[in-house]
Amino acid sequence: MPFIITDPCIGTKDASCVDVCPVDCIHPRKDAPEFEQATMLYIHPEDCIDCGACVPACPVVAIYDSLDSTPASQKDLIEANAIYRNGDPDATAHAEAMVKAHIESHADLMAIPGSERAAAH
Ligand code: SF4
Ligand code: SF4
Repeated sequence: MPFIITDPCIGTKDASCVDVCPVDCIHPRKDAPEFEQATMLYIHPEDCIDCGACVPACPVVAIYDSLDSTPASQKDLIEANAIYRNGDPDATAHAEAMVKAHIESHADLMAIPGSERAAAH
């Protein structure tokens, strides 16, 4: 069961998780052309080996360890994580559109600083 990145990543996106992932399944990396435009980072569910290394690396507690543990307010981002693919403009745009819809429908969460957002999930 894959790990999931959720909305505290928005506005932080520091790539600390990328640096510790042993299978390089968190995208886009800082050296990817998509990085600057990405609203958040995404975990490829088929490549994630559930090692858990990314969770303590995240300064804003954005990463959940399963689909089931992902809070109701963040469930829409499960599919965004699954859809995103570097180098695939359609998939990238689709995932980003889902994140933008999440932002628009969760103004309450977005008003909270990223470091405190997970506590409000
Ligand atoms: S759980 Fe492990 S393999 Fe999966 S994204 Fe996190 S660091 Fe990478
Ligand atoms: S460590 Fe957390 S905030 Fe930083 S990029 Fe990864 S998920 Fe986003």
